[in-house]
Amino acid sequence: MNIVYLSLGTNLGDKEKNLKDALSQIQRRIGTIKAKSAFIETQPWGFESDNNFLNAAVKVETILEPMTLLDECQLIEKTMGRAKKSVNGVYKDRIIDIDILMYYKDGDISGDGIHINTPRLTIPHPLMNERDFVLIPLKQIL
Ligand code: AMP
Repeated sequence: MNIVYLSLGTNLGDKEKNLKDALSQIQRRIGTIKAKSAFIETQPWGFESDNNFLNAAVKVETILEPMTLLDECQLIEKTMGRAKKSVNGVYKDRIIDIDILMYYKDGDISGDGIHINTPRLTIPHPLMNERDFVLIPLKQIL
C-alpha cells in the first residue's frame, strides 16, 4: 500500500460541508483515511478575496499510482463543481482544491517520499513549505 498526504481547501459556500463531502469522496475513490487534521480557517494566499479559507490535511492509504491519484483528485474537484483551477496562473475562489503533498510508495515512509517532476504533477508539492495553511494541518497528522 502507498501512503499519501493530501491538502484540502475551500473558500466558497458551506465550507465545512465541502470539506466533509471531499473527505467522503476521498475515502470512496482514493482509499482509507488513516489520519485527519482539524479544519483550520486561513486567509486567502496569493490573491485578494473577502472569503477566508477552511483547510485540512489527510493521510490516506491507497493503491493508486501518482497520475491516477491526480486524476481522481481532479475528478472529485470537478464533481463538486469546481469549474476551473487557476486562470493564467492567477488563483481564485474555489469550492474545493485538493493538492498532493507527498507520496510514499509501498509503505516506505523514509524522507519526503517519491519525487516526480512532470508538467502535470510535481511531488512533493513545490510550494507546501511556504504555506502555513498546508503546513499547520499537515503537522497535526505526520
Ligand atoms: P491549482 O489551480 O493550484 O489547484 O493547480 C492545479 C494544477 O497543478 C493542475 O493542473 C495539476 O496538474 C498541477 N499540479 C502539479 N503538481 C500537483 C500536485 N502535487 N498536486 C495537485 N496538483 C498538481
